[in-house]
Amino acid sequence: MKLRIIPILASLALCGLTGSAAAEEKYVTVGTGGQTGVYYVVGQSICRLVNRDTARTGIKCTAPSTGGSVANLNAIKSGDQNMGVAQSDQQYNAYKGEGAFKEQGPWPELRAVFGVHPEVFTVVARADAGIHSFDDLKGKRVNIGNPGSGQRATMDVVMAAKGWTSADFQLASELKAAEQAQALCDNKIDAMVYVVGHPSGSIQEATTSCDSVIVPVTGKEIDDLVAANSYYAKSSIKGGQYKGTDGDVDSFGVVATFVSSTASSEETIYEMVKAVFDNFDRFKKLHPAFENLNEANMLKDGLSAPLHDGAVKYYKEKGWM
Ligand code: GLU
Repeated sequence: MKLRIIPILASLALCGLTGSAAAEEKYVTVGTGGQTGVYYVVGQSICRLVNRDTARTGIKCTAPSTGGSVANLNAIKSGDQNMGVAQSDQQYNAYKGEGAFKEQGPWPELRAVFGVHPEVFTVVARADAGIHSFDDLKGKRVNIGNPGSGQRATMDVVMAAKGWTSADFQLASELKAAEQAQALCDNKIDAMVYVVGHPSGSIQEATTSCDSVIVPVTGKEIDDLVAANSYYAKSSIKGGQYKGTDGDVDSFGVVATFVSSTASSEETIYEMVKAVFDNFDRFKKLHPAFENLNEANMLKDGLSAPLHDGAVKYYKEKGWM
């Protein structure tokens, strides 16, 4: 008797498992960043387009605010999120097991989906702090970013290149991206660091709530970093976007990218990509930082992990590859 019951129970259990796994995949979580950044808008915009088609696809997409790039990559790896936005330097490091991901080792299952907007390593200082260059940050109160954010990971790289540690600052705070503009204007810090697309709500807040300036990030160490790492490029914050900054401010930058892993199915990623590119004009209008996006660049810029099969399927259908 027992021998008969066991296979029945086993097959029931199996049905249950496959049933719930299929249903679960329809709820998709996209990791973003702080609410005053651009990643939040990327995630919200993608989900808005995806959710217009839920009746057909069954996919329900949510894009909560998170700690940023490194947190998103780790959450995709652990299965807490299905997809996320991440800086191209962090995508590279997560795939190869370098930088902030050194201890974890390579992650061959990471998949690139598309590149999004350019991001600039942006330093904003109180006008009264006497900070005119990156080197002037030494001895000041600086928000170096919350662990898990892309700016923190990139700031760590810049500090290492300069031979600095957090002890070189009077204060090295770890406030989240959405908290730093207010801390700057409340005179709790002298400067903040954000790797972000422009214009961004956070930098707008920091430059309109008090007198502050965007500080150039240049010099030999930056030149060397850009020369040594293909995911960095010279960049600038175009003048006229923020109060107090009329001219272009030189710095370096990365690209925001949309990533997932082999744990997301081809079908799900195909539908996500289709929602964005079938409605591309609409997508581009959802944030001024998306204005200059074009398909050709989005299929190559900042992508160091292999493309997800679902993305490849859509791009091939379109004749883009
Ligand atoms: N680049 C930042 C990060 O990775 C986020 C910028 C944004 O939210 O727009 O943490």
